[in-house]
Amino acid sequence: MENIHMLIDGQWVGNKDDQWINVINPASNEKTTQIVRGNLQHADLAVQAAKQALKSKEWRAFKPFERGQFLHETARYIRDNAEELAALESLDTGKPSAQATSDVEAAARYFEFYGGMADKVFGDTIPVEADLLNVTVIEPIGVTLHIVPWNYPIQITSRSVAAALATGNVVIVKSSEDTPLSTNFLAKWFHEKLPKGVFQHVTGYGAEIGAALTSHTGINQITFTGSVPTGISVMKSAADNVVPVTLELGGKSPNIVFEDADLERAIPAIVNSIVQNAGQTCSAGSRLLVAESIADEVLESLMKKFCQLKVGPPVHQADVGPIINGKQYERILGILADIGKDAKLLTGGQAVKVDGFENGFYISPAIIEAADHDSAFVQEEIFGPVLSVIRFKGIEQAIELANATDYGLVAGIWTKDIDKAHYTAARIESGQVFINSYGAAGGVQMPFGGYKKSGIGREKSHLAVQNYIQIKNIAIQIRL
Ligand code: NAD
Repeated sequence: MENIHMLIDGQWVGNKDDQWINVINPASNEKTTQIVRGNLQHADLAVQAAKQALKSKEWRAFKPFERGQFLHETARYIRDNAEELAALESLDTGKPSAQATSDVEAAARYFEFYGGMADKVFGDTIPVEADLLNVTVIEPIGVTLHIVPWNYPIQITSRSVAAALATGNVVIVKSSEDTPLSTNFLAKWFHEKLPKGVFQHVTGYGAEIGAALTSHTGINQITFTGSVPTGISVMKSAADNVVPVTLELGGKSPNIVFEDADLERAIPAIVNSIVQNAGQTCSAGSRLLVAESIADEVLESLMKKFCQLKVGPPVHQADVGPIINGKQYERILGILADIGKDAKLLTGGQAVKVDGFENGFYISPAIIEAADHDSAFVQEEIFGPVLSVIRFKGIEQAIELANATDYGLVAGIWTKDIDKAHYTAARIESGQVFINSYGAAGGVQMPFGGYKKSGIGREKSHLAVQNYIQIKNIAIQIRL
């Protein structure tokens, strides 16, 4: 595959004098391509070009409805190329083809959704005094930086880029060093269709070009998805320049299964919530809180399902793909080796050698029953196919345990009793609560974001445009 160049100021950047980083296919641990190791100078060039583009006549000439039409065209382009994009996403991340296909469809939906909003974001008229016409005008916030992780590259890029372009901003995307392919594909489209500098794609290490961008005085807004420590450092850089951040930092989300739950619905959803994308999902249902009276039955069903899951590369039509890279793979195996003597590994948790893909990073999906909810593996985000289980007695203990982590992204509640469901949902500290479902098919329309250390702000939904606008109040004194 050809090397991936950065898109800066309308030019494809990267030559023999640059340093290059290998991109690895996690299904086989083989090199697929190389990206440019972006540096301070690249960061500065991108920001200067973005500032020019923001002021340019060409971009300002796009009327809001034309931005909307363009975003709809982008959605069509994504759908027309869905097969190729899904293949790139699978190659980069190792995720099963069906999952990659649904990620590509979600990306198209983001462009449609925010395309539809482009000409529907407007200000107010405020009654102050008879001779004062007071209005608010909505303006783009300016140069927006989108730092994207490796787990859902096309979805996460599309969700914030679509909202930012819809509201007239310019964007710089820093893709993950592990997964640049789908963003590069989109970059080619934007390069052809938009004035130079409106969409730019930079590559390289987070600590280098990523940090150079987050601390750059020319950046006006940052949307970051990734780990808590990196999110904190991004926020500190942003604070130096008084720049707003939207942070989506992951979770340790509980599925709470009450004794009256419909297990036929609950069990498959619980399995999917932790094995989807090999557990490398910020909203993974990685903690199972189960009523003591049904715990044995639930665990038996889950173990049966886990044993039936096929682990392997996309070409094997597997259910569970590889872990993204060697570092994450070793980290997860280390956590599994260190669960403590009182915890019980009920199934899985082993390194798997797949025929023909012996160097891929495969781990069999694991269920661990914890003796202590304070154990590190129950509290910390593992970001792998590992389900931690705790039994509870009564609704109050279920709620207490559900809230007893630093995170608060998503929760699932399983019960046929609407009062119990509602009572629990009202007390859960998380940005999203699902009752008798989990994930609800993604839903670009639903606000998504965290309480506590799961983040700041909301992505998705009509609310996300708020991240990308500024409000100007204009008061006009009228001579009556
Ligand atoms: P990370 O937070 O280090 O990286 C995410 C993105 O931030 C990447 O594009 C990276 O290049 C960039 N980055 C890294 N350091 C940066 C810095 N100092 N300044 C600016 N940008 C920087 O995540 P990771 O190392 O790829 O994964 C490690 C852990 O992160 C995982 O185990 C998981 O817990 C978490 N994670 C969460 C999500 C999520 O969806 N919330 C996604 C991926 C990873």
